[in-house]
Amino acid sequence: MGTDDGFQPGGDRGNRNPKMANAPYFPESFIARIKDGVNIVQIISEVVSLKKAGRNYQGLCPFHAEKTPSFMVSEEKQIFHCFGCGLGGNVFTFLMHYQHLSFPEAVVELAGRLRIPLPEVGIQEKTDTQKMKERLFFPRPPSIITGC
Ligand SMILES: [Zn+2]
Repeated sequence: MGTDDGFQPGGDRGNRNPKMANAPYFPESFIARIKDGVNIVQIISEVVSLKKAGRNYQGLCPFHAEKTPSFMVSEEKQIFHCFGCGLGGNVFTFLMHYQHLSFPEAVVELAGRLRIPLPEVGIQEKTDTQKMKERLFFPRPPSIITGC
């Protein structure tokens, strides 16, 4: 007595933005842990040469072409701001713009650097998609009854 749900809409149609659909959710505490462990000056100075200017750090903006530095990083506030193009934000915003990442991707990137394990939620999301894939590729065969 197997349940037969008739036909299933198959194929990969309508799966235009899998990145967005699979965006994992991270708890606030996890984000806070990353913010605590990361130093925005260190992250940005890997790609922008920063000079100490008073309480802040100053450099050439990586987001627009300029000859005089108007890109400021505040270690105290853990934010950056460019007075030339107006772009600003925290360490996540920086990675999102610089590496063209989505917010969850920037979170994963920083968690990796800090060796902070990803929370269960993110992992569960993955297994769900994996299960779905398995079901698509290996449909459960109808139970075969060998009798007599
Ligand atoms: Zn700029």
